[in-house]
Amino acid sequence: MNATSSKSNGVASLLCTTLGHRYTVTRRVTNHINEYRCKRCGCEMTDNLSGYLERLDAKSRKINEALAQLFEKKAKRMATQ
Ligand SMILES: [Zn+2]
Repeated sequence: MNATSSKSNGVASLLCTTLGHRYTVTRRVTNHINEYRCKRCGCEMTDNLSGYLERLDAKSRKINEALAQLFEKKAKRMATQ
């Protein structure tokens, strides 16, 4: 991201620590797994396979990418049957 958003992150993340993050869904990976972004501080989270929220980093992004492809294939197969 750009420098402006990381600059404002300090105050925003302080607010988030006290009040909690304000997540919006940024991407639907599967029926059960979504990716979220906090409207305030911009931090990104994802549901993991165990059903917990975890930070969306390079590793979880990769996992979600693979899951999304699997899910899409499965959905297509179901649709043609
Ligand atoms: Zn936040």
